[in-house]
Amino acid sequence: ASFGSEDVAASEKAGRVGAVFSSVAPSYDLMNDLMSAGLHRLWKGWLVEQLAPFPGMHHLDVAGGTGDVATRVARDILAQSPDPEAEQGSVVVCDINPDMLAEGQRRLDPSAPEAALMEWMTADAEALPLQDDSVDGYTVAFGVRNMTNIDAALREAHRVLRPGGQFLCLEFSPRTNPALQRLYDAYSHHVIPQIGRVVANDEQSYKYLVESIRRFPDPDLFRDMIWDAGFRRVRAQSLTGGIVYLHSGFKS
Ligand code: SAM
Repeated sequence: ASFGSEDVAASEKAGRVGAVFSSVAPSYDLMNDLMSAGLHRLWKGWLVEQLAPFPGMHHLDVAGGTGDVATRVARDILAQSPDPEAEQGSVVVCDINPDMLAEGQRRLDPSAPEAALMEWMTADAEALPLQDDSVDGYTVAFGVRNMTNIDAALREAHRVLRPGGQFLCLEFSPRTNPALQRLYDAYSHHVIPQIGRVVANDEQSYKYLVESIRRFPDPDLFRDMIWDAGFRRVRAQSLTGGIVYLHSGFKS
């Protein structure tokens, strides 16, 4: 088969992303806490708050990695359910990398109540093996920037959500507010790869993760991409001085 240069670039990116996440899987959750000084917990908490899970909800968390967001959604569904006998719902953790999912499954206490709601699915966000209009909510946290074709992933999100269903995405922004920018640059280019080297013995993977943030579209452009995929009531909320954005929209 002959590949155009775009295909080669795309398959190189997919291969690189696969290798990076297989390498970081065992240390991923610890690194998240160290690199964000625990802030990722706050950001994910806000994501779940805006999602507003409800009893019986069928939710999909894409690029779900070790299941951190999905676990929070499942716990929140249970917290909203007054009747333990009623159908509780489901939360599917979808990721393209089986090593990340395996790490999450290994860590999950099977007797924890939320474990009963969770399902693990190896799949590509750009071609989801799910029916049209089949989920009530769709989340993706810090995963979109690693995807090869972001427009295709957004179209898939729109296809599988039911009308009225909410799309929510947490992602780093390539630029913060001007007061923070120099500190943010120094932190991400020097401190994060060093934490990667010392804690995970893997400086290169963390350098790649920082670079992928720099290449991600600006929040305004990404908001337009979400609109173009068919979502409405599209919003981009800046969190923590613009380090992270919470993007949202509804399928109309
Ligand atoms: N959402 C998790 C969290 O916030 O802790 C994990 C985020 S991790 C930075 C990014 C994840 O995106 C990785 O597990 C990676 O395998 C996954 N990923 C990258 N490209 C993907 C794709 N096309 N489809 C599904 N998952 C993908």
